[in-house]
Amino acid sequence: MLDLEQRNVQYLSGVGPVRAALLSGELQIETLHDLLYYFPYKYIDRSRIFSISEVDGTMPYIQLKGQILSFEKIGEGRKQRLVAHFTDGTGVADMVWFSGIKYTLDRYRPGVEYVVFGKPTIFGGRVNIAHPEIDSEANLNLSEMGMQPYYNTTERMKKAGLNSAALRKLIKNLLALITEPLPETLPEWLREQERLMPLTDALRIIHNPMTPLELRLAQLRLKFDELFYIQLNLARFVSERQSRFKGYVFSRIGEKFNRFYRDKLPFELTDAQKRVIREIRNDMGSGNQMNRLLQGDVGSGKTMVALMTMLIAIDNGYQACIMAPTEILSEQHYANINRYLKGLGIKVELLTGSIRGKRRERILKGLIEGSINILVSTHAVLEDNVEFSRLGFVVIDEQHRFGVAQRARLWGKSDMPPHVLVMTATPIPRTLALTLYGDLDVSVIDELPPGRKPIQTEHYYDGNHTSVYALLDRELKKGRQAYIVYPLIEESEKIDLKNLEDGYLTICDRFSGYSVGKVHGRMKSAEKDAEMQRFKRAETQIMVATTVIEVGVDVPNASIMVIENANRFGLSQLHQLRGRVGRGADQSFCLLVTPYQLSEDTRKRIEIMTATCDGFEIAEADLKLRGPGDLEGTQQSGIVFDLRLANLARDGVLIERCRELAREIIAKDPQLTSKENRLMGRILKRLKKSPFDWSYIS
Ligand code: ADP
Ligand code: MG
Repeated sequence: MLDLEQRNVQYLSGVGPVRAALLSGELQIETLHDLLYYFPYKYIDRSRIFSISEVDGTMPYIQLKGQILSFEKIGEGRKQRLVAHFTDGTGVADMVWFSGIKYTLDRYRPGVEYVVFGKPTIFGGRVNIAHPEIDSEANLNLSEMGMQPYYNTTERMKKAGLNSAALRKLIKNLLALITEPLPETLPEWLREQERLMPLTDALRIIHNPMTPLELRLAQLRLKFDELFYIQLNLARFVSERQSRFKGYVFSRIGEKFNRFYRDKLPFELTDAQKRVIREIRNDMGSGNQMNRLLQGDVGSGKTMVALMTMLIAIDNGYQACIMAPTEILSEQHYANINRYLKGLGIKVELLTGSIRGKRRERILKGLIEGSINILVSTHAVLEDNVEFSRLGFVVIDEQHRFGVAQRARLWGKSDMPPHVLVMTATPIPRTLALTLYGDLDVSVIDELPPGRKPIQTEHYYDGNHTSVYALLDRELKKGRQAYIVYPLIEESEKIDLKNLEDGYLTICDRFSGYSVGKVHGRMKSAEKDAEMQRFKRAETQIMVATTVIEVGVDVPNASIMVIENANRFGLSQLHQLRGRVGRGADQSFCLLVTPYQLSEDTRKRIEIMTATCDGFEIAEADLKLRGPGDLEGTQQSGIVFDLRLANLARDGVLIERCRELAREIIAKDPQLTSKENRLMGRILKRLKKSPFDWSYIS
C-alpha cells in the first residue's frame, strides 16, 4: 500500500527537485503525507456564474461567462496596461492586465467563449476584473468544481510559479494516487457514535468540497482528530500519574486550622473561597496527589485560601511551601502570613536569593529538621541544597512565571510528590485551560470580597493631560497614592526608557509638592525593591514605573493609575496592571491615555477595558481578538502549531466533547489495550514522538 509518510514529495508528478526544495524550505512539506495535510485557508464557490448586469462592487469573487469583444492597449512603456472588453449579453465588463500583456494577447482570442474569474471592482461605471483567471468552460468542468480551495504560499514560491493554483494541481495529482482508503485514525465505533466521516473522505473533501455543508463535515472530522488526541493524551497522562504516585493523605482537620478559623480570621470568607477550600481539602484527603490550578481575579483573596490550606498540611504533620515569582512578592507574603498566624505557634521563614550567610544556614537547618512549618520563597527554594524534612504541600503563586522544569524540581524535595496548588490571576478562558492545563483540576474564585468597588476606567487622548493631572491632583490631595505606567517593550527599549525618564521629569515638575519614585526593568533588583518599599511605606506618593509592578504588589492606599501609551499594551496586561489599584474599599481610578490615531483592535481593547473589570470577560475577549497563538502559555507549549484546523477560541463545544470522551475511554481502559481501543493507543504513541512536548505539564 502507498505509505504517504515514506514517500518524498519530490517524486509526485509536477514536483521535481526544485519545487521539492521550495516546499520543504518554505512550508516544511517533505512527504506526501505533509502535502496532504496542507489544508486550504479559504474556499471560493465556483459553481455559480453571474451575469454582468447583477454585479456590484461589493462582491468578493465572481465568475462570468462570455466572449472578448476586443483588446485595447492603454498607456505607454512600463505604465502600459491591457484591457479586454468582455460581454455576456447583459453588459460589458473590462478585464485588465498590468503585466504579462504579450502572453495574454497570444493566449486568448476574441469571439471564443470563456469563463473568467476574479474580484470585481467598479471603475468608471463599469465592472473591472484585474488579472482574472480565464479558461474555457470545457476545461473547467464547472459542475465538478464546487468550491475552489486556496492555499497559502510564500513570495519565494510565487516567484517560482508555485502559487495557490499550482499547489491545487499538485494536490489533485496526489489525490489521484490514493486509490484505496488510508489507514484510519479513529476506531469505527467512535466514528459511528460521533457521526464522523472516514478519514480518507475528509481529506479528499477538504481539498475539493462540492458544498459548504460537505466542507463543514470534513473539517469537523479533521478537527476532531486534532482535539481528541490532545485530550486523550492528557487523560492518559493524569491516569498514569495517579497510578504511579499515591498522594499524602491529609485526613485531619486539626487544631491549627480550627483555631485560625475561630480566632484569627479577620473577615468572613466569601462563598467562593469556602468552596475552593473544600475542593482542596477533598483532594488532599483522597489518596491521590493533588494538581490543582486556582484561578481568581486580582484581589479575589487567593492568598487566604493558600494560607488556610497550608494549615491543613501542618495539622497533618507536614511542611508547606509557598513560592512567589519575585523577592518583593515573597516578602509581602511573608509579612502577611506572619501577621495572620501570630500566636498560633507556627514557624514561618522567608528564603530568597538575597538571604545569605548565617541566616541562610539557620533556615536550611530548620527545614531539614522540620522545625520550620511554612517556607515562603522564590526560585531560591529550587536549589539542590534546600531540603525539607516532610514537604507535603506546595503553593505556586502566579504560575506563568515558573517554567515546567522548575515545577518538576519541586517533586524531588520529598519522597512522594507533594500536593501542588498553582495560583494564577490571569484568568484563562475555559477552552484554553482545558487544553493547556488539561491535566490540572481547576478551581475558580469568581467572587470578590464584599465592598469592593469596580475600578472606574476612563480613556483620555494625549492632548488631555490637563484633565488627567487634575484627577491625579484630586486623589493625591486626599492622601492617596498614584501609579504612572509606561510601556517598555524590548525592540524600542531605548526610546521607551527616554519616554519614562521624560515622563518622570514632567511629573516631578508638575507635582513638585509630592515625592516621586521610579522603577524600571533596567534597575538592579535590590534598587527596584527599595523603591517599591518606599512607595509601600508611603514615603513616595507617585510611582513612575514600567510593567515591573504588574504582578501582585499590594499597596491598598494607591487609588489611581495612569497608563501612558495604553495602546501598546495587550488586554490581559492592562487588566493585570489595573489590578494594582482598587485594593481598598474606596473608589479607584484607571486612566488609559492613548494617541488620537488608534487601530480598530486598539479601540476595541480600550472599549472592553472601560466597560468591564471582570477578568474572565476580558480573557475571553482577548482570546477572540488575538487568537490563541498570542496568549501567554500557548507559545511555549507549541500546542497551537499542532492545530491546523481547530481553533481554541471557537471550538469550545468540540473541545468539551473530546475531553468527556477521552476521560470515559481512559477510565474504562487506562492502557488502551482492548481490541476496540488499540488503534488509539498506537496513535498516541506516535504522537508522543512528535515535537509537541507533553512533559511541560507538571
Ligand atoms: P489575590 O492574591 O487573589 O490577588 P489577595 O489574597 O492579595 O488577593 O487579597 C486581596 C485583599 O483582600 C487582601 O488585602 C486580603 O486581606 C483581602 N481579602 C481576602 N479575602 C477577603 C474576604 N473574604 N473578605 C474581605 N477581604 C478579603
Ligand atoms: Mg496574590
